[in-house]
Amino acid sequence: MFRHVKQLQYTVRVSAPNPGLANLLLEQFGGPQGELAAACRYFTQGLGDEDVGRKEMLMDIATEELSHLEIIGSLVGMLNKGAKGQLAEGTENEAELYRSLTENGNDSHITSLLYGGGPALTNSAGVPWTAAYIDTIGEVTADLRSNIAAEARAKIIYERLINVTDDPGVKDALGFLMTREAAHQLSFEKALYSIRNNFPPGKLPPVEQYTHVYYNMSEGDDPRGSWNSDEHFEYVAHPQPAVDGGDGLATVTLSKEQEALVKAMAKRTQSDPAVDPLTGAELGSGEPREE
Ligand code: MN
Ligand code: MN
Repeated sequence: MFRHVKQLQYTVRVSAPNPGLANLLLEQFGGPQGELAAACRYFTQGLGDEDVGRKEMLMDIATEELSHLEIIGSLVGMLNKGAKGQLAEGTENEAELYRSLTENGNDSHITSLLYGGGPALTNSAGVPWTAAYIDTIGEVTADLRSNIAAEARAKIIYERLINVTDDPGVKDALGFLMTREAAHQLSFEKALYSIRNNFPPGKLPPVEQYTHVYYNMSEGDDPRGSWNSDEHFEYVAHPQPAVDGGDGLATVTLSKEQEALVKAMAKRTQSDPAVDPLTGAELGSGEPREE
């Protein structure tokens, strides 16, 4: 069950309203790397996990992400508070109000006009939140890797948001949220490597002959590192098709009937290299054509 606690997970002190900044913060409210996406990602993974410890961790982090959603939504609400009252009550003259909504040079007018200054489930450009942001596949060694990457991306978005505000209270709250994503990344990494057989993901073994091969698929200067070192890989400097030793062609076995139909279609749509047909494009170009 869930219960709501009236206090936030972290204290929020906003110095002054700033609708433009509120709009940027929506990136972490309803954006792809945002808190709702994170909460839904871990909540659904936790519901489906059979491992007691991991399930608990996923539920703890999902619930914390909802608490983050509450913090970032509260920040958006505080930053929009001034404009919200002005717009709702219509006390200022039209020009003043128009200027206050658009002066920040971003889409804060969308938040003001369409959502009345409340935190909307959109990203900072007004794109509606979608479950397609969540890439859970139901195999824990793959999902934990995706969670690790999701936390890394969330941390970076917070870092960028911190860099665009000079409000000390907002900076402080964003610093907390950013730090928690790094802590989550560490938990997910620990959980991944607590699974003894975590690589490669899944159950089927990889095909032995290609498992430790590095194909150099480019010409010119080819830097080497541990990612393609002789220690870890058989380095193929000039890969030739087909690497399996076959003819590299794609074939399929068809029934006699299917084969006859494919041949008939190929004959009907055959191109003739001997003709040079006059085309509509050439007629329309207005250039004289030699007969
Ligand atoms: Mn979070
Ligand atoms: Mn997180």
